[in-house]
Formats: sequence, C-alpha cells, structure tokens
Amino acid sequence: MAYDRSNIFARILRGEIPCKKVYEDAFALAFHDINPQAPVHVLVLPKGEYVSWADFSANAPDTLIAGYVRAIGKVARELGLEAPGYRILSNAGEDGQQTVAHLHVHLFGGRKLGAMLVKH
Ligand code: 5GP
Repeated sequence: MAYDRSNIFARILRGEIPCKKVYEDAFALAFHDINPQAPVHVLVLPKGEYVSWADFSANAPDTLIAGYVRAIGKVARELGLEAPGYRILSNAGEDGQQTVAHLHVHLFGGRKLGAMLVKH
C-alpha cells in the first residue's frame, strides 16, 4: 500500500493538527491517543513515511529503526511504566484493524490490562 501523505498522523507530524505531545526526538513523536482505552494510552510514531511494520522493517534506514525502537523504550520509562508494566501493541492491516495508515505503536498502562486478546 502506498503511503498517503494526507493521513491524520502525517498531518500531526507536520504540525497541521495539534496533539498532546509526550515525547519527541529526531526519530519519533509520541502523544496521547484521542480516545484512550487505558489510563495511559500513548501512540508512538516514527518520523518517516511508512504505512506499516512490513513497510518500515523492509524499507526504513537502520538509524531510524534503531531510533524509533529506542524512543518507544524511552517513552515507557519516562511515563513511569517500567516498574508496574505496560503493553505495546501495533495493529496491521484489515484483520489487525489498523485505522491510520502511518506506522504506530500503542502503549497502554496504568491498570491491570487483562487478557491479551478479546475472545469472540
Ligand atoms: P489504529 O486503529 O490504527 O491501531 O489506531 C489509531 C489510533 O489513533 C486510535 O486509537 C485512535 O483513537 C487514534 N486517533 C485517531 N485520530 C486521532 C487524532 O486526531 N489524534 C489523536 N491523538 N489520536 C487519534
């Protein structure tokens, strides 16, 4: 899937739409999810035009991959989630129900998070 520069996270990264920022460096931006599913629900995005983990892992430069992964760890630490624990989740494609086509991870914490998947 080609990257669409009009997606909502691209617009947030360009500063066209505001966000509640938690962290930013040369590789990543983190901000609070607009519709939180846990007391802490933060999204961490790489700075680059990548739709998904498949796209990012295949096409991003090593420096960006390393910087992004380090940023995710830093955000979790800075939010105080390291000791109590937290969950990282990334939805991909239709089955994963990814709704925004710019790679992101969700970082959840602040309560016991329950089972990993809802049973259907
Ligand atoms: P996905 O469904 O792609 O895994 O996650 C997209 C997430 O982005 C959802 O949890 C949704 O609440 C969040 N989201 C969508 N639009 C906005 C927005 O404009 N601002 C913020 N902060 N979060 C958004």
